[in-house]
Amino acid sequence: MMGVVNYMDSIEMNIRQILQNIKNAEMRCAKPLEEPVRLIAVTKNHGPEAVDAAAAAGVTLVGENRVQEAKDKKSHTAAAVAWHLIGHLQTNKARQAVSLFDLIQSVDSWHLAEALNKAACAQDKRQDILLQVNVANEETKFGLRAEDTLDVARRVAELPGLRLCGLMTIAPYVEDAELVRPYFKEMRRLFGELKTLALPGVDCRWLSMGMTNDYQVAVEEGANLVRVGTGIFGPRSYGVQGGL
Ligand SMILES: *Cc1c(COP(=O)(O)O)cnc(C)c1O
Repeated sequence: MMGVVNYMDSIEMNIRQILQNIKNAEMRCAKPLEEPVRLIAVTKNHGPEAVDAAAAAGVTLVGENRVQEAKDKKSHTAAAVAWHLIGHLQTNKARQAVSLFDLIQSVDSWHLAEALNKAACAQDKRQDILLQVNVANEETKFGLRAEDTLDVARRVAELPGLRLCGLMTIAPYVEDAELVRPYFKEMRRLFGELKTLALPGVDCRWLSMGMTNDYQVAVEEGANLVRVGTGIFGPRSYGVQGGL
């Protein structure tokens, strides 16, 4: 393919294909959420041209996993996109994260929620967040334990600087995405419980799950935010920006 189509065209083709796959998976979903599925283009380890190319293909949401990288990238693109933080955040970067991101998906501890609340209050912002759940209890992953999530949600709901908008998870990496379906089902159940609590100030709208390898299974199980990097931009290579 290299040389046959240019960078922008190949990204647009990939996005078109993924959107079609999402649509098909959505039709197989037994209990879809109110909010239709949206695609987040994960631009981490790619340059600002990746943001521009995704935006040109109609994507309106981008995901980044580092504060500094997002800050640099944001200053090099004028694309009209919303920026989502999807990587672990240290509390000492809470202030910067609040000033940069429209949605912080990776709130993985009460401690971090408190730090973000403080930063948001100081900036007169109500920061939209998701709680990240380590649904498979993986030692190597950040996130709340499923059994602690609703308690943390109750406490977060009382923080004036934050607006809890739903849940996020990263499923274990497996070759066969079918194997992670039970985790997505568990997340959908937890999301339903959170919604049923009807906590004041909580806008339980987004269930963020699914990446290149497993987004179709995630959508079948009710995800309405999917985070795709490799499927759009190709493998991430350090030092070489962009290109497929
Ligand atoms: C990198 C990353 C993604 C995208 O992963 P791909 O497999 O490249 O699609 C999605 N979510 C999170 C949290 C990530 O860190």
